[in-house]
Amino acid sequence: MRNETTALLLMRLTFAIAVPLALIFASALFWRTPDVYLPWIDGVAYTGVILLGALTVVPRALLGGPLGTGWALLATGMILYASGEVWWALVGRTRSEAEAVGLPLEDVLWLAFYPVQVLALWRLMGKVPRRDRNLLDALVVSGGLLVVLAVLIQDWLPGANASGGEDSLIVEGLYVTGDLVLVVLAILLVYVQRFDVAPGWWLIAAGFLAFALADILYWILSSYDAYVEGTWLDLGWLVSALCLAGAAILGLETMHAPQVQSLRGIVPASLAVMVSGLALGWGPEGPFGDFARYAALATLVLSLLRLNVAIRDAAEAQEQRRRAFTDDLTGLPNRHALHALPELSGKSLASPTGWSLIVLGLDRFGDVNASLSHERGDRLLTMTAERLGGCLLPGDVLARLEGDEFAVLMRLSDPSQGFAGAERLQAALEKPFEIDGVPVPLTACMGLSATLDPVPAIGPLLKEANLAMHYAKREGPGLIRAYSGQEAPSSVQRLRMRASLRSDLKAGGAAFELHYQPIVRIDNGALLAMEALVRWRQDGALVPPGQFLGEIEHAGLMVPLTQLVLNRAVAAIHRLGQGHAVTVNVSPDLVTPWLLDQVRDTLDRSGAPPHSLIVEVTEDALIRKPDTANEVLRALRVLGVRVLLDDFGAGWCGLSAVRDLAVDGLKIDRAFVARIHRDRPTRAITASIVDLGRSLGLTVIGEGVEDAGEREELEALGVEWVQGYAYNKPIPEADLAAYLSQHPPT
Ligand code: C2E
Ligand code: MG
Ligand code: MG
Repeated sequence: MRNETTALLLMRLTFAIAVPLALIFASALFWRTPDVYLPWIDGVAYTGVILLGALTVVPRALLGGPLGTGWALLATGMILYASGEVWWALVGRTRSEAEAVGLPLEDVLWLAFYPVQVLALWRLMGKVPRRDRNLLDALVVSGGLLVVLAVLIQDWLPGANASGGEDSLIVEGLYVTGDLVLVVLAILLVYVQRFDVAPGWWLIAAGFLAFALADILYWILSSYDAYVEGTWLDLGWLVSALCLAGAAILGLETMHAPQVQSLRGIVPASLAVMVSGLALGWGPEGPFGDFARYAALATLVLSLLRLNVAIRDAAEAQEQRRRAFTDDLTGLPNRHALHALPELSGKSLASPTGWSLIVLGLDRFGDVNASLSHERGDRLLTMTAERLGGCLLPGDVLARLEGDEFAVLMRLSDPSQGFAGAERLQAALEKPFEIDGVPVPLTACMGLSATLDPVPAIGPLLKEANLAMHYAKREGPGLIRAYSGQEAPSSVQRLRMRASLRSDLKAGGAAFELHYQPIVRIDNGALLAMEALVRWRQDGALVPPGQFLGEIEHAGLMVPLTQLVLNRAVAAIHRLGQGHAVTVNVSPDLVTPWLLDQVRDTLDRSGAPPHSLIVEVTEDALIRKPDTANEVLRALRVLGVRVLLDDFGAGWCGLSAVRDLAVDGLKIDRAFVARIHRDRPTRAITASIVDLGRSLGLTVIGEGVEDAGEREELEALGVEWVQGYAYNKPIPEADLAAYLSQHPPT
């Protein structure tokens, strides 16, 4: 049957006939005389309810689906039972003692009901894993219950103590066993789901329980010869049939098995084990005594199995806890572990002189990762972890927070020690790493926080150190900053800042100023170009780009800002210079066809020639969208606008990649220049950048040259162009004309 609506209709219809029949039977109980057989009531109504109950289940079985077989078995069991009733009504009840040979057919049909129902339930329970903890608990509890019931029956039921011969004893035993199994099944059903049971399942459990209780009561009464037909007891079987039919109408959701880990869950199972132990020790007599002993044995075996599962669970929980506290890649404690440290270490963590926490973030690791492959990036992180670990003092704790962020918790004896610790970490990273024979220099920014508390509160310390680290990152690579309480603009401040930036830009950009820093020839000071560097005037102070560009980006204002800088810088150089050039920084996200249009527009508007403009882009632009970026840069160069690769070396574009890039020159990142005379590998890398640049005919510029030492090193390597405080700090626009007039263009 494919159509659920038709099936439901049929089920409801059959059920609707069964219910009034049951009511008729029930109402008859008020007026009838017990023990007098009423064919219409005990024959038609009673058997009718049982038969219709069974028939209600049939459409559900015909609907198929994953539980189809289960329903079919349930219907079969009920039909077998109903057939037993029909046979009893028609033949059995009028049969004389002499005619009864062997096991009567109605008994065969009734007894067949039990195994078929057990099978039905097995199928209906479907996906509950056979070693499910709830299932095992339920089996142990049911086992204990079976033991108790069997012992009680053995002692209280005269029939069980053999009153009517060997054969009848076996038959009675089978019935009672079947009933006990039904009780167990009912308990199992709700126990497996920890009593959080959908209505359909409640009805099945209720159906089995009603049947078993009616049956057991029947056997107890008959063993005292006290059972008479036509009493309230008979209703038990009818209720059972209606419950099972009702379950078929409601349908069953797949069983869910919530795991209960609390101790309360163990109590019933422990009781069951105790009862079983007692039953085995005491060894009850008689056939049901034997049954009780077997049930006790089975219960104990099951409880051992359950114990085994519990032990495995405990081990797994411990392993999970270990994993939750460990960083997979480096094997270091992770952020959770760091947070939990005071709790986990207890008293051993106390330091009378306080603590310092350093958060360390590798500079531009994202780019390194993108250019090296993730596998190599991972190796680099592991190597970093090893190096950092190598410079810890006893009692320091190194953790990996996430990605390229590490944290070190250090015992302090005086506040300056924190800084010394950070410098030690920095020194550990100084030597470039070697990945597949290629040296990879890494720098890191660090943020420090400290506390005098003997036991550190990790949360606040981490937050402060993290803020300080981000503050350091904004200022430049390789910096260490201590938390001072000033660094974090609150989110309200940030929103205010964005609003001011937006309104200042809208108002024409008068609040933005450009300063210009020359790029000069190392040997004779001839001028290549002036780099336009933007500043924001706010409340009389000049805010450097590092402090507001992030907000510009977040507020989506990079386009109007770049427009402003381009227009103003090109106009200024055209107005004030005599064939001079200006370089303008363009953020990676803007290296798109928009830039091309904007540059054309700027040049048209100012009337400046294309060679007066140089665009500076960073490697990020080329890593993120290499094809688009390259195309745009190529088109710019076709226009006659030059392109410089800014901060080269820091972004890990890879040396060989430069070959395919549409650029006119490279600006070697300040991180290299700053270490050139301290560090041999850095010098070697810089040398190869210069060689490559020169062999490709590129203009190679050293940026951020602060002193004569750096200048000399660069010169020795063959660098022809430089920029930096050693020559000029960025100069305000007001001084531009004077500067340009003294420095003719090359
Ligand atoms: P950049 O393009 O690499 O600019 C060089 C930065 O290094 C400038 O910082 C400059 O003042 C600084 N600098 C120059 N010589 C030295 C030196 O000898 N030692 C040290 N320590 N620093 C030196 P500034 O002006 O704070 O700009 C920072 C960054 O902000 C720039 O780095 C650039 O990426 C960005 N930026 C500046 N103006 C603009 C702009 O108009 N648009 C965009 N998108 N970015 C801009
Ligand atoms: Mg620049
Ligand atoms: Mg730069």
